Amino acid sequence: MNVYKDLAETIGNTPLIRLRALSEATGCEILGKAEFMNPGQSVKDRAALYIIRDAIARGDLKPGGTIVEGTAGNTGIGLALVGASMGFKTVIVIPETQSQEKKDMLRLAGADLVQVPAAPYKNPNNYVRYSERLAAELAKTEPNGAIWANQFDNIANRQAHIEMTGPEIWTQTGGKVDGFICAVGTGGTLAGVGMALQPKGVSIGLADPEGSAIHSFYTTGEFKADGGSITEGIGQGRETANLKGFRPDHSFKIPDTEALPIVFDVLAHEGLCLGGSSGINMAGAVRMARAMGPGHTIVTILCDYGTRYQSKLFNPAFLREKGLPVPTWLEGVGAELP
Ligand code: PMP
Repeated sequence: MNVYKDLAETIGNTPLIRLRALSEATGCEILGKAEFMNPGQSVKDRAALYIIRDAIARGDLKPGGTIVEGTAGNTGIGLALVGASMGFKTVIVIPETQSQEKKDMLRLAGADLVQVPAAPYKNPNNYVRYSERLAAELAKTEPNGAIWANQFDNIANRQAHIEMTGPEIWTQTGGKVDGFICAVGTGGTLAGVGMALQPKGVSIGLADPEGSAIHSFYTTGEFKADGGSITEGIGQGRETANLKGFRPDHSFKIPDTEALPIVFDVLAHEGLCLGGSSGINMAGAVRMARAMGPGHTIVTILCDYGTRYQSKLFNPAFLREKGLPVPTWLEGVGAELP
C-alpha cells in the first residue's frame, strides 16, 4: 500500500520539471520545482506546515486553537488547509488588492477573512501589523487560545526549506546543480534553500520584482525601491528574520515586461499554468544562466498555480490597464471572462 496518512504528509516532494524553451535558449538546464502541486497549490504549504508544527511543539498552539496571520494569500491557504486537517481555526488578514480568487479560496478553506487597505509596513494598519494586534486580542478571548504565525520573522518558515526543499533539489538533481534562484516575499524560500545548498557549492541568486528593495539592499546596502509589479506575494522592504544570516551570490532586478511573456509562453507551449511570481523566478533563472554561461544546471521555483490569477494576470483588460503587453491568444480566452 502507498497511502499518505494525512494532508501534511502530501506536502513537499514536488516534481522538478525541465523548462524546455528556456533551457534551449540559454544552453543551460533550467529546471522548475513544481510547488503548485502542493495540496494548497503553492510553495507556502511548506512554511504553513512548519509554523504549525513548531507552535504545537512549543506548546503555544493547543487543540482547537486559532491561527492568525497576515498574508498575501498563499500562506493563509496553507495555514487554513493544514489547520482544518488538524482541528485548528484560522483568521487571515489580507490586503484588499490581492486577487479575488485567493480570497475566495481562503473562505472555502474555512478561514475568517479580514480585508484591510494596502498600506506600507510602517503604517499600523498594514496587514502584517494588524494581524499581530488581532492575534494578541484573540489570545485573550478565544477559548482555546490563539497564535500569530508571523511568517516574515518566524524562522520555522525557512526551516521548511532548509529541511525539505533544499535537500529535495539536491537529491532530485543527483547533486548536479550549479545555481538556484527565486524571489523574496518573506525570504523563507530563498534563504532556506540557500542555507541548504550554498555550503554544497551551489550559487544562489535573488530575482527581485520592481517596487521591491531587496536587490538594492544586497547590491548597495540601502533599501531603495522604484516602480511596481503586478506580481503578488513577492517584494520586500526590510531584512526579515528569515533573511538574516544569508547572502545571495547573484542579484537581478526583473521587470514585469521580462517575466510575464515567459508565464504566457510556458502556458501556451509547455502546459504550465503559473502565477506571476513564477515568471519573475523563470526570468531570473535566464539572467543567471547568461551570467554563469552555458552548460550549467539552474533550479527555480514555480510558486503557485495560475488559475489563482485569472482575473488579473490572464485578463487582457487588466493587462492593458497596467500598460502591459497582451499575447494574441489570450484575447480570445479573455472574451469569456466576466
Ligand atoms: N510567490 C508567491 C505567489 C507567494 O505567495 C510567495 C509568498 N509570499 C512567494 C512567491 C515568496 O515566498 P517566500 O515567502 O518564501 O519568500
